[in-house]
Amino acid sequence: MSAVPPPSLDLGGIAVTWLADIPSMEFAPDDLLVPGGADQGPGGALDLTFGGYLISGDAGTVLVDAGVGDGKARSRPGWNRRSDGALPIALERTGLTLADVDTVHLTHLHADHVGWNTVWDGDAWIPTFPEAKYLALGDELDWGRVEYARDPGFMYGSYADSVLPLSERGRLEAVGDGFRIGDRIEVRAVPGHTPGSSAVIVRGRQETAVLSGDLIHHPHQFAHPLTCSRFCVDRAASAEARRGLLDWTARYGAILMPAHFGWGRVVAADGRFRFQPIVR
Ligand SMILES: [Zn+2]
Repeated sequence: MSAVPPPSLDLGGIAVTWLADIPSMEFAPDDLLVPGGADQGPGGALDLTFGGYLISGDAGTVLVDAGVGDGKARSRPGWNRRSDGALPIALERTGLTLADVDTVHLTHLHADHVGWNTVWDGDAWIPTFPEAKYLALGDELDWGRVEYARDPGFMYGSYADSVLPLSERGRLEAVGDGFRIGDRIEVRAVPGHTPGSSAVIVRGRQETAVLSGDLIHHPHQFAHPLTCSRFCVDRAASAEARRGLLDWTARYGAILMPAHFGWGRVVAADGRFRFQPIVR
């Protein structure tokens, strides 16, 4: 790996940096997307990235989502027992250490967003970020608890190794829609992909960014907004939340920062959208 610093955008008094865990991974279209309404599916293989966004400003250092993680037993081959330490190495390249992360907010509890919550210390899964408070919407934590009680292998086993160890240590806190971290960071409920999915709005002095989690998985969905991911729990709600948030993002000229592809601006027309990527 080269020592290039991770891509970062200064919004004015607050910056957002992409910490890649898996820079690139291909999915067959049918493994990822389900066309909705009159939408058409995409043609070729879909390229996704996995990782988390680091927000640095007055309210401290906030990590939004925690990638796939290392050492986790997963039935998906590219996620299984990884060992390259990518996300912590990316963090180190910003000049920060694990102990500098004050807050980890989880947009939802899917396996590819909670992986670096914990690391194996030879004995148990312990919090990766020793000083951090971990947050998610209460609806998401309630859903996770119920599903895990029904099936301990829930979410590829990620609830057991990456969420439960935090709640058992009293390190995981439920927050509500509209929760703020300092003056510039706001958590918003966007249920659908999962019951307690959230987006994070970051308001800088010059620019506003919307960290949209898995509200949109792939750029194909801008022109086909009824198309959902295969992993959406409630597809109708997911499509409605996606349209609402993309409309908002376009209206305010905000920068969309999705979890699985690069950031850019959104243009709305007739219930569909166009994406203008910003080169990192
Ligand atoms: Zn995801």
